[in-house]
Amino acid sequence: MGGKFLISLDFELHWGVFDALSLETYQKNLENVRTVIERLIKLSDSYNIKLTFSTVGLLFAENKGDIKKFMPSKIPNYNNKELNPFRLINSIGETEKEDPIHYAKSIISAINKNHNHEIGTHTFAHYNCLASGQDIIDFTHDLTAAINIAKSMDIDIKSIVFPKNQIKQDYLEVCKRNGITSFRGTEEHFLYNPSIKTKNFLFIKFHRPFRFLDGYINISGHNTYSLDSLLDRSGLINLPSSRFLRPFIPRLSCLEFLKRERIKKAMQYAAIKGELFHLWWHPHNFGSNMDANFKNLEIIFKEYKNLNKKFGFESITMTGLTNQIKTRQYSN
Ligand SMILES: [Zn+2]
Repeated sequence: MGGKFLISLDFELHWGVFDALSLETYQKNLENVRTVIERLIKLSDSYNIKLTFSTVGLLFAENKGDIKKFMPSKIPNYNNKELNPFRLINSIGETEKEDPIHYAKSIISAINKNHNHEIGTHTFAHYNCLASGQDIIDFTHDLTAAINIAKSMDIDIKSIVFPKNQIKQDYLEVCKRNGITSFRGTEEHFLYNPSIKTKNFLFIKFHRPFRFLDGYINISGHNTYSLDSLLDRSGLINLPSSRFLRPFIPRLSCLEFLKRERIKKAMQYAAIKGELFHLWWHPHNFGSNMDANFKNLEIIFKEYKNLNKKFGFESITMTGLTNQIKTRQYSN
């Protein structure tokens, strides 16, 4: 069997950026997410590509009453108070219609009814696993809340993408105990290790420019993974990221070609070697320059189609791949 093409989307709306970006600068991106997801599903379906929407639990709420009903019974007491999303609750609207950047039940329902794609979790309240002030008990409450609010829509959560890619080893056990079977790890290259940046001054200073350059030229390698290396007897499978799909930047439009080539080369490598290529981004990244972003994506999807025909490169969801790995329905 050929390689695997995995796409995960961190679906979070304002809950994913409230502590980093102002609404003045980013509201349009967030409001456009509905259109982005409609176009994304249409395009993916036309290329027979499966998506995994790793969704913030708060977005499943129909109204503020739902948020209060499903709130974790213990919330993290981050030392940095800016990280606390619950401080926004009093100021948000009552319903999705009134406040489309804090609620998304209708979008989740449309994705779910489509049946081609998976809905996983991005924690209930965009949880910061590496922040000071929180602990494993808080995480357990958050994760349980995320699973319960999804269950209220008959959605069974099986995969997780950790916010800000902050992963703590002992928290993976909590995921496993709660029925989660896979998570998205970071690239193995040290440039992408989020736990290093909290300790190392040089890393803080240089990792961003190097990661940025790595989007255009090959610094960290293809970041594809042999399917054998994904086997994990502990029962929770790490499906590491290969690449973040950077949004279109108008002033760097002349470099878009390099960015696409970087991705296409890694896809070709994965298809030929029978490995995993895992691409991810946030739907709000496409909220500006939407046409240019979709043009890039369609070129990537065309490459997928070629590789699918030539090498049996297969598009799959996180849980689809996890199930294949577990039942060993693949062979290299
Ligand atoms: Zn996020």
